[in-house]
Amino acid sequence: MANYQRMTKAELIPALRGLEAQVASLESIAAERDRLSHELSVHQIELEAQNQELREAQRLVEESRDRYVDLYDFAPVGYVALDAGGHIQEINLTGASMLGVERSRLIGIPFSLYVARGDAGAFREHLRQSGQSQEPVTGELQVVVKEAQAIRVQMVSLALRDGGGGISRYRITMRDVTAHRRAEQALRESEERFRAIFEQAAVGVSQCVSHTGEYVRVNRKYCEIAGYAREELLTWRFQGITHPDDLEAELNLMQQLMEGKIRTFSMEKRLRRKDGEIVWVNLTVSSMWASGEEPTYHIAIIEDITERRQAIEDTKLRLAELEPVSEISTTLRAARTLGEMLPMLLDLTLEALHAMEGSIWLYDSVEDVLRPAASRGESEKDGTCPHQLKPGEGIVGAAFATGQPHLAGDFRLDQGASEAMCQRIPPGIGGAAIPIRAGEKVIGTFVINVSLPRKLTPSEVHLLTTLSELAGTAIQRIMLREEVERRAAELEQRVIQRTAELSQREAALEAANAKLTELDRMKSQFVSNVSHELRTPITTIKLYASLLRRGPPERRDQFLDALEQEANRQAHLIEEILQVSRIDSGRLDLHYAPYALNELAEASVVSREPLAAEKGVTLACKPLKPGPTVSVDRVRTLQVIDNLVENALWYTPTGGQVSVATGTAEADGQIWATLSVTDTGMGIPKDELPRIFERFFRGEKPREMQLPGTGLGLAIVKDIVDLHGWRVTVESQVGGGSTFTVWMPLA
Ligand code: ADP
Repeated sequence: MANYQRMTKAELIPALRGLEAQVASLESIAAERDRLSHELSVHQIELEAQNQELREAQRLVEESRDRYVDLYDFAPVGYVALDAGGHIQEINLTGASMLGVERSRLIGIPFSLYVARGDAGAFREHLRQSGQSQEPVTGELQVVVKEAQAIRVQMVSLALRDGGGGISRYRITMRDVTAHRRAEQALRESEERFRAIFEQAAVGVSQCVSHTGEYVRVNRKYCEIAGYAREELLTWRFQGITHPDDLEAELNLMQQLMEGKIRTFSMEKRLRRKDGEIVWVNLTVSSMWASGEEPTYHIAIIEDITERRQAIEDTKLRLAELEPVSEISTTLRAARTLGEMLPMLLDLTLEALHAMEGSIWLYDSVEDVLRPAASRGESEKDGTCPHQLKPGEGIVGAAFATGQPHLAGDFRLDQGASEAMCQRIPPGIGGAAIPIRAGEKVIGTFVINVSLPRKLTPSEVHLLTTLSELAGTAIQRIMLREEVERRAAELEQRVIQRTAELSQREAALEAANAKLTELDRMKSQFVSNVSHELRTPITTIKLYASLLRRGPPERRDQFLDALEQEANRQAHLIEEILQVSRIDSGRLDLHYAPYALNELAEASVVSREPLAAEKGVTLACKPLKPGPTVSVDRVRTLQVIDNLVENALWYTPTGGQVSVATGTAEADGQIWATLSVTDTGMGIPKDELPRIFERFFRGEKPREMQLPGTGLGLAIVKDIVDLHGWRVTVESQVGGGSTFTVWMPLA
């Protein structure tokens, strides 16, 4: 008994046929059925059992077919069968749903209707190719689906042939690759974007093999910073262009990166460019690896920070420079004079620059030359430093005249070197001559010498320039202060002078004031004296007038004489008062002319002889022969002599002698003409001597003796003497006589 359950469909069909033959044979032997009924019954039972098996087998077959149909319909790809003309014969559910059309409506429709217009040719070509090939042919098309949307479909087509070798149908699988292609496109675009970013980045970007350091790719900026062409750089490793001093630190960090200890690092390092130049870069390195993998590549980003580093270096340098500058500036501020400040500045500068020689020259605008205001070094010791230079002469003059720093490795080889300078300066001496400015004006030159091979570095020259500026300011400050001090001293001097002048004037004013007060007092005294003196004779005149009227007639002559005498006195007094008043009011004009002094003396003696005779006094003239000539007002001079002679005659008792002498004498380094009136009279007491020239002063004795007089004679003498610019002196002894001398300049 066959086991149908284990049979294939192919095996079952012949088995079934066998069974049918057996049934036919059983029918044909129906006659023998009775005989064999028992047997039949047995067989029937067997047959029943076989039938049962057969039905079971059929059910299994149907189930299996349904499964295949499902597989076909719900496969992940679309299956479509086209006839030779390209019409759809069959299509699975996946295929129909791809096209968005119900399956039953697709049968018999040309597939090309669903192909996008632009791909129609491509579709025809695809069918043609698969028609020519024994193998499946792959192609890709745009297929228009419902609502005019297009999807991208990958087609694998196999042409099936009939017995005659013609194409009977095409079996095609369709795969919707729209999403796949989009993803690919996005990937491509993203890649392109990455490339653009990588390439056009403003920073240098490189990709290196982590273990070796070989460059895999570098962007334009990276090449630019490193100074290599891209092709050159791609044959290098990063270690090759890294400055050896920075390499160890970087390799150390790279090691940590590869061991996964750090994910990224940044550092500043130096690159050695192809041209040998050193560039400072800021480096940031990150690893590239998928999770769980060993890092194989790393990305390095570099940024050129040379300028920034340079700025920092410059700042550091400036700070280092500023230190001596600030120190020097503080020291200079303490200096009060140029003589104190400039040598100090020079010494400090030489110290700061580690130089041995230098000088500071200042311009003298009066003589248009530059002179050394301070110098240090050999030329100072041996005296070869010139005492002055013209603007433009030598490097000192050149720096001054152009206002530009003058630098030279060797002064003797310099263009500006004069012959004298070459003889003076030994070879191999160079340095810098920097103009010193005060505001806009160049006021001198600062020179620092160094011996080769030492040369001043740019930063030393910069420092020197700064110090020159400092010097300019300090010089200006001191000059200003000196000027201010000089002016202050001048002003003080002027104030002192002015104060002295003022106090002098004040004293003069005080004196004038005192004089005025005195004059005022004298005037009051004068007025009261005048009134008194005038009143006395008038009283006497009135007295004699009444005596004339009422007295005895025989004494009338006597009264008349007395009256005349008083009237004369009165007239004399009035004459003298008028004279004094004229002198006081400045109305007395002098008319100078040269006269022989002897002649004037003799004229006076002759005119007073009657009075001498009356008084019984000898009057003599003792002229010096030849006598001096004087330039005088004749009338006033005679008045002086007359007054003195009259006084001598009045104050000398009868029998006495009066003499008038002329002569010359030396006093105060000058020869004078002198006129002396000497008497042998009563003399003048010492206490009265200072007062005898005062107006209205009369000696005590003359008043007691009631000698006539006004007390104005000597005052008039003094006034006339003063008006002429002469002097009058007196020597006297009580009881021994007096000598009055008038001193006149020789004509
Ligand atoms: P007066 O002679 O009118 O008194 P003066 O001014 O001439 O006035 O003289 C002033 C005074 O000086 C006199 O009063 C007198 O005391 C004194 N004096 C002047 N001349 C002489 C003299 N030759 N001898 C003595 N005393 C004199």
